[in-house]
Amino acid sequence: MKYTAVLVPGDGIGPEVASAALEILAAAKAPIDWVECLAGVAALEAGGKDLLPTATIEAIRKHGVALKGPCTTPVGGGFSSVNVAMRKTLDLYGAIRPVRSLNGVKTRFENVDLVVVRENTEGLYAGIENEITSGVVTSVKVATRVACLRIAEFAFRYAVHRNRKKVSVFHKANIMKLSDGMFIKCAREVHESKFQSIEYEELIIDAACMRLVQDPTRFDVLLMENLYGDVISDLCAGLVGGLGVVPGANLGEHCAIFEAVHGSAPDIAGKGVANPLAITMSAVMMLNYIAEKHSDTSLAAIATRIRTAYDRALVDGCKTRDLGGKLGTNEFAKAVIERL
Ligand code: ATP
Repeated sequence: MKYTAVLVPGDGIGPEVASAALEILAAAKAPIDWVECLAGVAALEAGGKDLLPTATIEAIRKHGVALKGPCTTPVGGGFSSVNVAMRKTLDLYGAIRPVRSLNGVKTRFENVDLVVVRENTEGLYAGIENEITSGVVTSVKVATRVACLRIAEFAFRYAVHRNRKKVSVFHKANIMKLSDGMFIKCAREVHESKFQSIEYEELIIDAACMRLVQDPTRFDVLLMENLYGDVISDLCAGLVGGLGVVPGANLGEHCAIFEAVHGSAPDIAGKGVANPLAITMSAVMMLNYIAEKHSDTSLAAIATRIRTAYDRALVDGCKTRDLGGKLGTNEFAKAVIERL
């Protein structure tokens, strides 16, 4: 079988790491035809008016899957975040960010293996901000019962499917009694009605952060609203080696976008030093997603081969600078390809 997927290289380090990931996939003979589309500053620089061109959205709708590099949203100028807009437009309501310790990447903890599940469409990222009067602004936090129930259902289904044991909800319902209150009420409801085989706990987010940095190995699936998910994803990345090693998927009913947790890292863009592992891991998640959808065991085997190859590269000491190594983006990709 041959599949078509959309590639959005993005901005900053996006094109460099995306091209390294594509080289690895090609060397592993992943049967993917890529349709390249623009978003972010790259779309403006190509002469477009929109950060998020309709053609890009239509292509993702049509093909159902995309691999995406980070997109930059220019500060000011009335642009709203292109990443947030893409997730909302395509209703990719569930983000999954698996965070696991990697052999060869020395960190404070071994055996971290958790998954951040983030609600992607509302919360404070709904983008409803007002200047009430000069010097007074408000940002509205949105929580709807429909979205809270579906993300809870999504997290528990994921836990069952992946044989995970526990879902921990992070919240601040003691202060935001209505919005976070709705979030935990819905999670509780979904747990009690359908998923009692999964252990369930609720943690106030400040205390949860303390526990995470004290002992992340006690956690399994973490469920939270949009802003908390954004922040906690970076915190968790720090527990296993940083933003260079954490992949992600944004999933909806009809399509999926796979992308690293990191941003466009303008400080190192164009230097050939960015770690392409996070986007490569995201591409592996994409291959597994397609393989599952089409019951394609040979595609799943290709995904496993790539994962085994980068795991081995790290154990052999092949690392980019963010992990304490010396390799550049392309050298690391080459090291993975040699181990396929
Ligand atoms: P955003 O707000 O767009 O998510 P951010 O503020 O989280 O972005 P990033 O662009 O993710 O910031 O980068 C944060 C820092 O992490 C950068 O200074 C960069 O040096 C480092 N970094 C991020 N991604 C990588 C990578 N793939 N390889 C090496 N270093 C990275």
